[in-house]
Amino acid sequence: MPETDAANRAWTERMPLASVNRAPLAPHFPWPYGNKGGMFLSFDVDAETPWNVADPSRYKELVAMSYGGFEARVGVEKLLELLRQEGLKATFFMTGWSIEAHPAMAEAVLRDGHEIAHHGFWHIMPKPGDSMLVEEVERGFDTLKRRLGVVPLGYRAPNGESCEELRVLLKNKGIVYSSSWRDDVRPYRHLLDDGTPGIIELPVTMTYDDWLFGLSHRYSPRPMFPREWVLSIWKDELLETRDWGGMVTTVIHPQCSGRPMRLRLLREFLQFTKSLGDVWIAPGRDIAAHFQRCEAEAAKNGAAKNATS
Ligand SMILES: [Zn+2]
Repeated sequence: MPETDAANRAWTERMPLASVNRAPLAPHFPWPYGNKGGMFLSFDVDAETPWNVADPSRYKELVAMSYGGFEARVGVEKLLELLRQEGLKATFFMTGWSIEAHPAMAEAVLRDGHEIAHHGFWHIMPKPGDSMLVEEVERGFDTLKRRLGVVPLGYRAPNGESCEELRVLLKNKGIVYSSSWRDDVRPYRHLLDDGTPGIIELPVTMTYDDWLFGLSHRYSPRPMFPREWVLSIWKDELLETRDWGGMVTTVIHPQCSGRPMRLRLLREFLQFTKSLGDVWIAPGRDIAAHFQRCEAEAAKNGAAKNATS
């Protein structure tokens, strides 16, 4: 038997016959203010980090780096302007490197009252057993505190990957919610492998990752999607999710949606969402706090019911 086949066979025999996510199903908590559904409005500020994380020597490829540099020069400020015009507050997941390299950009986000959350330091995807995993998280915390005075409540994994070591680390560091997993349309609480409750998950879907629709570049010749296609995907996903009583989570990159054509599209989508009148648009900190309140209420009611039965 070839070596790789043998290794695969050994691994498959060790693989547990159980789902990776053993958390109870997401509770159907009502949305506040009579809304039927929610929208976690969030942005991922990577700046140059995704462009050289796989190959740090690319830092000297100045035009490649300039794709990410657009965020600090133009994109973030234009998105902040849009959010001011629409009267919306959002969460900005920022890599520590982006804050160190572009402190004025990060300070502008904070000044406008948006939530700043953790998005790693160099944008290294968390993988089990990776020797950089802890440093990537620790250094992100350090930069947020030292540069901005921020102790983050939220975390989104670079490239949206996770592992048990990371889940335990985030909980121990005081993170309240993660927004990386793709397996629900409602918030839920993680269950760690040791059986203890983990942090809250505000799940994401690739539907609202604008990088997939709006960026075409030298390393991926994928064409950009026209606005009608993107709007039709975004609206359909929103309407159906709202009807299910769920939430959508945007994963918007200023180097993509801070571009003029894309910003126009985003403005139209946000105005459409607001016009529905029954979707709660909020930053992650507010959605997580609402979940915690509902959870505490449910626990209290459960205890009262048990006491009377
Ligand atoms: Zn990112």
